Amino acid sequence: MTKNKTPSLSFEIFPPKTQIGNQKMLQILNDLQQLSPDFISVTCSNTKGSFESTTIKLADYIQNQLNIPTVTHLPAAYLTKIEVATILDHLNQLNIKNILALRGDILPEEPAKDDFKYASDLIDFIQAKQPDFKISGACYPEIHPDSANRITDIQNLKQKVDAGCNELITQLFFDNELFYDFQEKCQLANINVPILAGIMPIINRNQALRLIKTSEAKLPRKFLAILEKYEHDPIALRDAGIAYAIDQIVDLVTQDSAGIHLYTMNHAETANQIVAATASLFHKQKMIS
Ligand code: FAD
Repeated sequence: MTKNKTPSLSFEIFPPKTQIGNQKMLQILNDLQQLSPDFISVTCSNTKGSFESTTIKLADYIQNQLNIPTVTHLPAAYLTKIEVATILDHLNQLNIKNILALRGDILPEEPAKDDFKYASDLIDFIQAKQPDFKISGACYPEIHPDSANRITDIQNLKQKVDAGCNELITQLFFDNELFYDFQEKCQLANINVPILAGIMPIINRNQALRLIKTSEAKLPRKFLAILEKYEHDPIALRDAGIAYAIDQIVDLVTQDSAGIHLYTMNHAETANQIVAATASLFHKQKMIS
């Protein structure tokens, strides 16, 4: 396993859906910039045209106005090779050379296109078209839901890394032991790229309820107790949710994780509080007032 002396700290944001959201996003990004992230990644929905209409515009602002490296998420199951080639050219023109190459979810009501059956097909394609791009891939400490079992999931992940993935970012998880177990299995399978741990602070009731209803992630007793006890106390729930994320991060960094990727849910203040509590672990100066 590759070990960084200094773990990376990065943030994920998603493109807002409204004009007001877009205006707020500029402030969010300016706030996140103060926290000196190693990169900011921008998600992309797998609906047609989404990348060009939202993701790439935000990524351009982050990379070229804020001068923060950006990683663009690119789910390709519903795209053709011609469409992806156009996207890659556009990214190259904007000097954005980092992609999180994704298959994306397959919608039950809409069959996927044939060009990119798996993320590894997209990685092969990017490598051929833009060999100097840095490619990240997604991984799942608790197994991808489409996989029959852990063994095939890890074998497929190995294939993805061998296709040319420079780094992996995990799905969110709340139990660090599952992550350590996954890391060990990757090591045994000779998957040696850095694995960034995806951490999502839970800061409000809606988020908590959605998580309980839909999440594939195991919710430890300690975590469920927080959600239950502070369900009707928004401030306590927020404080406890942030403290839980900080506790996970301290443990992960102490145990030499390659990096932390914070699912910010576009809440700069939450990221701010977490960085304020952990900045020295990432050898970052505290710039928080
Ligand atoms: P793949 O790596 O292709 O894997 C999908 C499934 O196929 C797995 O079960 C895998 O084991 C299996 N598989 C892979 N290769 C093979 C093979 N050669 N033969 C047989 N089986 C194979 N979704 C979005 O729509 N937008 C986003 O912005 C987004 N960002 C994400 C960020 C992160 C960090 C993560 C972890 C997920 C993100 N997702 C996003 C969700 C992701 O698109 C879904 O989980 C999707 O279902 C799988 O995408 P993948 O790239 O991991 O697929």
